[in-house]
Amino acid sequence: MPFEIKDVDKKFYDERLRDFLPEKILDPHSHIWLDHLINWKDSVAGKIQAWPLKVAKENSIEDLVAGYKLYFPDKEVTPLFCPGNVISKSSIEGMNEYCSASAAQYNYPFLTLTNPDWDAETVEATIKRDKSIGVKVYLTFAPDYIPVDEIRIFDFLPRHHLEVLNENGWAALLHIARPGRLGDPLNLAQMLEIEERYPNVKLIIAHVGRAYCPEDVGNAFELLKETKNMVFDLAANTNADVFEQLINAVGPKRILFGSDEPISRMRMKRICENGKYINLIAKGAYGDVSNDPHMREVSKEESDTFTFFMYEIIEAMRVAAERTGLSPADIEDIFYNNAHRLIESTKGN
Ligand SMILES: [Zn+2]
Repeated sequence: MPFEIKDVDKKFYDERLRDFLPEKILDPHSHIWLDHLINWKDSVAGKIQAWPLKVAKENSIEDLVAGYKLYFPDKEVTPLFCPGNVISKSSIEGMNEYCSASAAQYNYPFLTLTNPDWDAETVEATIKRDKSIGVKVYLTFAPDYIPVDEIRIFDFLPRHHLEVLNENGWAALLHIARPGRLGDPLNLAQMLEIEERYPNVKLIIAHVGRAYCPEDVGNAFELLKETKNMVFDLAANTNADVFEQLINAVGPKRILFGSDEPISRMRMKRICENGKYINLIAKGAYGDVSNDPHMREVSKEESDTFTFFMYEIIEAMRVAAERTGLSPADIEDIFYNNAHRLIESTKGN
């Protein structure tokens, strides 16, 4: 069993989420990997947030599947997964092999982790050979000479890869970089450029562009409401205000659920302070977090009320859906149909 279910979780699920969620759920943003597949010798873990790795050292396909049964005992959940703990270029092939074997075993869709150094033929041949539905790209593989805060989308999702994805109608799961997050003008310019120049790419902007607090949005939704193709996943985002703005800008057909398993098994509550997100957690639950501005330990009395990050993501969407008057059919779209349609559209091109 990958984690424990407590009374506080059962109560939260029964009272707020069970009836809100449809019977079938598609989680289009989850990660599987085994620790032994990671070569720490060429790790660039220093480029990214440290706390996610403290939540789970690895996540096998068995644990992913078992986790959904614990979170959603009465629902049928299908994942779209990709490798996780993406910190070493020399581990890419092994991680992809594990994903493609797991996908074949369970008949689940998955995304190939790409190295921006690959030529277009390698991207195309790998996706076809492994029968994935597209790519997962990550900023850790941008060239080392680029300071982390300056990494642009095309530094890790190069145009020659986009051309191959566009020709084949494949998907790209994109976690945008930069401290300005969704509101960053350069991120927005490149997102819009992908939309315009590569219209057949099924572009998924992960985590609503990492807009975890309202201050991260800027004027993004004014620009994004004019777009037609790109979709947004909710993974690891618990902000109902941001979700409300997202619904108003792009509507419920271009929003996909998404958890970011396995980090969504963290017990927490997220707050925003001065425009920065902070995960409130129990003392000692995730090791030494004294140097991490995004983690804060609270009293036992408070932390005993915390449930899973997974549930907090869904709860935020429930609140946003209520505020914007979404119907049960819209909720089915967000939690299943939109992702299902996207996955099906990548096949048979
Ligand atoms: Zn992720």
